[in-house]
Amino acid sequence: ASLWQDVPQGPPDAILGIAQAFRACEDPKKVNVCVGAYRTSEGNPWVLPSVRKAEGIMLENNEIKEYLPIEGDAAFVEKALQFAYGKNAPLDRIAGVQTLSGTGACRIGGAFLNAFLPGRTIYIPDPSWGNHKKIFEACGLTVQTYRYYERSQNGLDFEGMLEDIQTAPKGSIMLLHACAHNPTGCDPTPAQWQQIYQSILERDHVAFFDSAYQGFASGDSEQDAGALRAAVDAGLPVLLAQSFAKNFGLYGERCGTLSVVCGTAAQKDLVMSQLKCIIRPMYSSPPRHGSSIVKTVLSDEPLTEQYYEECASMANRIVDMRTKLVEKLHEVGSTHDWSHVTQQIGMFAFTGMSSDMCDQLTEEYSIFLTRDGRISIAGLNDNNLEYVAKAVHAVTD
Ligand code: PLP
Repeated sequence: ASLWQDVPQGPPDAILGIAQAFRACEDPKKVNVCVGAYRTSEGNPWVLPSVRKAEGIMLENNEIKEYLPIEGDAAFVEKALQFAYGKNAPLDRIAGVQTLSGTGACRIGGAFLNAFLPGRTIYIPDPSWGNHKKIFEACGLTVQTYRYYERSQNGLDFEGMLEDIQTAPKGSIMLLHACAHNPTGCDPTPAQWQQIYQSILERDHVAFFDSAYQGFASGDSEQDAGALRAAVDAGLPVLLAQSFAKNFGLYGERCGTLSVVCGTAAQKDLVMSQLKCIIRPMYSSPPRHGSSIVKTVLSDEPLTEQYYEECASMANRIVDMRTKLVEKLHEVGSTHDWSHVTQQIGMFAFTGMSSDMCDQLTEEYSIFLTRDGRISIAGLNDNNLEYVAKAVHAVTD
């Protein structure tokens, strides 16, 4: 008998499993609106020209391949934190480490919380990015949800969210999507954020922001950082998981940061030392290519300007496709109210379709999406828009 004969089949990942099914599908009309990755109007992945330019500069400079320190490239982390928290951020009291993109940031943050705030529960929105629950449970935290989305209204359940924050045990951890909530595309307004922060303060909770789409919501990364910056201004205890996967198109480079806003510079040093203790036995040190790209772009003013324009162009194409999808749906005869789709922001449309309707889209039309009715708008373009609209109309009519 073999040593591993009793190892059972692990369940496939909900999202990556669909991507695999898409690749295997032989229907020439197949459409992938599952994956959260940007696609051009021709349906292709896009390496930002500013990123390519930065790689050229790195090559010219003969960049070396030595190990980074445990905490990553300090110059990258500084630029990344300024990008998130703003030019006037109190970086002297923010502990920040480079991470393996947003997933790695959540994981390091979760491990830190489990070590230094043991026994507390982390509350994630219902619904949330499918990996949140798994990541935080793997860190040893107890995961619960707070109400976030009212499916019958296709909008934010603000009353429910506030009530759940107010009734959670004091000192709980609240996971908040910094902008462009995945999968709903529905964010609180600035005024609602203020009320959320008041409740978090009253209950001595901790705010853990997950920022995977800064720049993707409005096209303006400054504007998209508003909720995070307001939380720091309001004096909340803040952690931030920052990803450069989507906004810089650096998906496979695994580039991000985890930061903890501390009360003093001395606290920051102590927190930094502990973050390093968590990272060292996990993977020693992060990869250097992606962080070097981000550092190079954000250290060069004209290149930063170019980057902002490219990020805005991605956001604008998505907004454009959102509008066109709803227009097409009406054009092909749908009489449903699809206004929530145009109101939503970020990469996804949370359509309200049932899992049966999603299955029908996949089985009968080779349109691949997650079974919660989420469509990745980035996967739409002028060539497949009408096909998708007709199919959505057919299954929702
Ligand atoms: N957080 C949210 C809400 C996401 O949607 C994603 C990616 O889809 C991530 C974090 C992390 O992605 P990555 O690990 O590629 O940065």
